[in-house]
Amino acid sequence: MTALFLLLLSAAAPSDPNPLLAPLSGPHGGVPRFDAFKVEQFKPAFERAMAEEDADIDRIAKDPAPPTFENTVAALERAGRAYVRVRTYFNLWSGLLNSPEFQPLATELAPKLSAHEDSVKQNGKLFARLAKVYEARERSGLDPEQQRLVWVDYTNFVLAGAKLDPAGKQRVAEINQRLATLFTTFEQHLLADEDTYLLLEHESDLAGLSPSVRAAAAQAAAAHGHPGQWAIVTTRSSAEPFLSQSDRRDLREKVFKAFIARGDHGDAHDNNQVITEILKLRAQRAKLLGFPTHAHWRVSDRMAKTPEKAMALMEAVWPAAVARVHEEVADMQALANQAGDKLTIEPWDYRYYAEKVRKAKYDLDDSEVKPYLQLEKLREGMFWVAGQLFDLHFKPLTDVPVYHPDVRVWEVTDGAGKRVGIWYFDPWARPGKRSGAWMDEYRQQERFDGEVTSIVSNNANFIKGKPGEPVLISWDDATTLFHEFGHALHGLCSNVRYPTVSGTNVAADYVEFPSQLLERWLQTPEVLSHYAINPQTGKPLPPELLAKIQKAAKFNKGFATVEYLSAALIDMKLHLAGETPIEPRAFERDTLAALGMPREVVMRHRLPQFNHLFADNDYAAGYYSYLWADTLSADAYEAFLEGKGPYDPEVARRLKKYVFSVGNTVDPAEGYRAFRGKDAGIGALMRNRGFPVPPAAN
Ligand SMILES: [Zn+2]
Repeated sequence: MTALFLLLLSAAAPSDPNPLLAPLSGPHGGVPRFDAFKVEQFKPAFERAMAEEDADIDRIAKDPAPPTFENTVAALERAGRAYVRVRTYFNLWSGLLNSPEFQPLATELAPKLSAHEDSVKQNGKLFARLAKVYEARERSGLDPEQQRLVWVDYTNFVLAGAKLDPAGKQRVAEINQRLATLFTTFEQHLLADEDTYLLLEHESDLAGLSPSVRAAAAQAAAAHGHPGQWAIVTTRSSAEPFLSQSDRRDLREKVFKAFIARGDHGDAHDNNQVITEILKLRAQRAKLLGFPTHAHWRVSDRMAKTPEKAMALMEAVWPAAVARVHEEVADMQALANQAGDKLTIEPWDYRYYAEKVRKAKYDLDDSEVKPYLQLEKLREGMFWVAGQLFDLHFKPLTDVPVYHPDVRVWEVTDGAGKRVGIWYFDPWARPGKRSGAWMDEYRQQERFDGEVTSIVSNNANFIKGKPGEPVLISWDDATTLFHEFGHALHGLCSNVRYPTVSGTNVAADYVEFPSQLLERWLQTPEVLSHYAINPQTGKPLPPELLAKIQKAAKFNKGFATVEYLSAALIDMKLHLAGETPIEPRAFERDTLAALGMPREVVMRHRLPQFNHLFADNDYAAGYYSYLWADTLSADAYEAFLEGKGPYDPEVARRLKKYVFSVGNTVDPAEGYRAFRGKDAGIGALMRNRGFPVPPAAN
C-alpha cells in the first residue's frame, strides 16, 4: 500500500504543480490525469500555456536560418503542445461538465483564447517564413504528406487573415473575440432552457408510454425533486420518445411546443439577438478576408469548394423529399380518419402517427424492436464490427482516471496486439452535459517525433434505467451509437506522421463520411443475430423481424430528409445573405415559406437552438456536410454490396487504407477515388432513401 502510494506521489511530482499542463503520463502510453483536474486550474494553466506557445512561435519566427519545412512547418507541429492539451480539456468541460462554477470561467476565457489563437496565425514574420516554404513546396524534396501539411497550414493562415494589413488583422481578431463570447452565451442560454421540464402528476398522463420511457421519466422527476411523479425534460432524448409514443395529444402538443421554443422565449435566455450579432460579424469578417459572404469563406477549403456546389446538391434532393412528406402525411391522415380520430395532422402528431403507419404498412412497431436493443450488447457488436473491418480489438481498462464515475475506458489494439489507442465511453445524460451525441479526440495519433497513439471518446445522452436493469435504446439511438463510433474508428485507425493532418482533422464536409458509413453495419444480420438480444428471453432478434426492418428501411425518409435539409438550406441561405441585417424569426419563417416547407414538419434545429451554427464556427455554412458526406457513404456502402457484402475483406482493406487511416494527408476527393475507383454520384444516395433517381445520376 505504502510503496504504491509513494510511487504515485513521485510520478505526479512536482516540477509542475498544475496537472492540466502536464504531458500525458501513466499507463497505456499516457492518459489524461482526470482525477487531478480542477476547474480553478484552468486560468493559471492557460496563462502558462499561452506564454509557452508565444515563446515557441517567437523562436520559429525569428530563426536566423532560411525557412525550411523542418525549422518552420515541423517546428509548428511541436509548438504550443501544452496549449493544445489545456484547450482539449477546456472543450471537454464545456460539453460534458458545464457546471455553474465553470460557466463564468468559460465566459471570461473564450475571448482570450480566441485572441491568442489569432496572434499565432497573424504573426507576420512567421507567415512570411511559411509562405516561402509553401512557394517552394514542390521543389524542396518534400514527400506528399509533407506537401499536404504545408498546404493545410498555409491555407489556414490565409483564411485567418495572415495576408491582411495590421488594421485588418486587428479587426478580424476583435470580431473573433466577440464571436467567442457570443458562442458561449448561445450555448449557456440553450442549456438553461434544456434544464426545464413538464411534470406529469397522474398515471393517466402516461398513456401509451413504454416501460422504459416511463422509467426514464420517473428518474428525471426524482432528479428534479419530484419523486413518485414523472418529468419530460426539454431535451431531444426525453422529448422525442414521448412524442412517438404518448396517446395524449394535448401533452404531445405541450412537449413539442416547449422543445421547439428553446432559446426563443423572449426572456433572459433568448438567443435571437445573439444570432443577429453573430451573423453580422461573420459577414463583416468574410468581407475583410476578401470573400463575398461567410459561406464562400467557409466552404472554400472544403470538398465542395463553393456554396453553389453545396446548394446544388441540396436542391437536387429537396423536391423529392418534400413530395415524399406529402405522401407520408396523406398515409397518416388516412389512418387517423379510419381510426375516427377527428384531427388534422400537426407537427406534434408526426412521430406518433408515423409509428402507427409503420405498424400498419410493415407490421413493424418500434416497441417490438427496442426490447432487443440493449446498449451494452450493441457496444459489443460495434467492437465486433471494428474487429471484422479493421482488425481492431478492445480490452476494458480499470486503471485509467476518469472525469466522472459514469465513464468507462477500453484499450484498443491491432491484430498483432499492438496498442493503437484508447476509447472512453460516457453514455449517460446528466445536468451540465450538452444534449445529443458526439465524439471527442483527447489526443491525436502522430509519429514524426516518436509514436503517439490516439485517445478518443464517444459521448451520448441515454437515460439510465433502474439500477441493475439493462438499458434498452431505440433503433434511431442505436444508429447514432454506431455513427459516433465511426468517428472514433476514424481517429483510432489514423496512421500518419503529423498531428495537424491526423485522424478526424479532415474537411468538415468529409468528416461525416466515415461515421455515416459505419451506421450501415447495425442493420447487418451478423450484428443483429448476435448482439440484438432480448434480455428477458436471451433470444436474438428473430429473422422475421429482421426481414421486416429491412423492408421498412426506407420508411419515413421524407420526414427525416426534410427535417434535416430544411435546416441545412436555411443555414446556407443565412450565411449567403451577406451584410443584410437578419431577424432570425422572420428569416426562418419567410425562407421556409419560399422553399415550400411542408407545414407538418419543423426544422430539426430551429435557429435559436441551432448549436451547430451558433455555439461555434465549425458547422456554420456547413450543416450541408451531412448530406454531402452521405452521398459518399451511400456510394461507398454499395462498393461492399457489389462485392462480397458488408464484410468483404478486400473492400474493407481499401476503406482503411484510403479513407480511415489517411487523415487529411490526401485531398479527400482523391482519397475517395482511390478507394472506389470513381467519384460518388447522387444515385446511391437517392436509392438509399427510396427517392426517384434522376436520369443523369449514376
Ligand atoms: Zn457525426
